[in-house]
Amino acid sequence: MSNVIGMNEFVGMANGDSHCWLCQKPVSTRALFCHHCGTIQPVRDIDHFARLGLERRIDIDIELLERQYAALSRTLDPQRFLIRGVGERGHAVKQLEILNEAYETLRDPLRRGRYWLLVNEKTFKDEVAANPLANELREELNNASAASQCDRVAQRAGYALEQGIMNLMQALRGEDWQAANKTLAELDGVEGILDEVRGRRSSLTPDEEGRAPEGI
Ligand SMILES: [Zn+2]
Repeated sequence: MSNVIGMNEFVGMANGDSHCWLCQKPVSTRALFCHHCGTIQPVRDIDHFARLGLERRIDIDIELLERQYAALSRTLDPQRFLIRGVGERGHAVKQLEILNEAYETLRDPLRRGRYWLLVNEKTFKDEVAANPLANELREELNNASAASQCDRVAQRAGYALEQGIMNLMQALRGEDWQAANKTLAELDGVEGILDEVRGRRSSLTPDEEGRAPEGI
């Protein structure tokens, strides 16, 4: 089943129409262009799913997301607005910015998970509990003196991230908000480790990198 929303449904689904900034006629909140005068509309307050023409669900069809994004970003290509007035050019730039933000958020499972908690108003601030795995990995990283040791930490962190994302999605599907928040906090820690590994690996001198690590 496709979870794309057709352009005709866009109009019907709009909850409370807006007005075109130029011709003042009513326009669907989701419409990029006024269907009376064809003018691009300002950024309206709709969620990332609606902005990309997707059904609001935690599990998204990534291929569909890519297609929708490609089509919409072509439509909003600044080149197309070069001969338009300042007002239209400005709206096009802002629309493209928010489209990119929506796309980047939905494409990344972690960001999408965080956003899903936000739109469902289920974010708990004090869920940053102890994170034994991140602590263990950090210690291993601190003791790493060779690139191969860094790589091993990165490999473990990458695996933990993969597993964690599966757990996160499962929690979100089951609306176990508590577990989802906890998992997200853990994954933040693991993601931080991956960033540190990159920094640390690049700081190792070629000499250290060439040396065979002990015990491996
Ligand atoms: Zn108009």
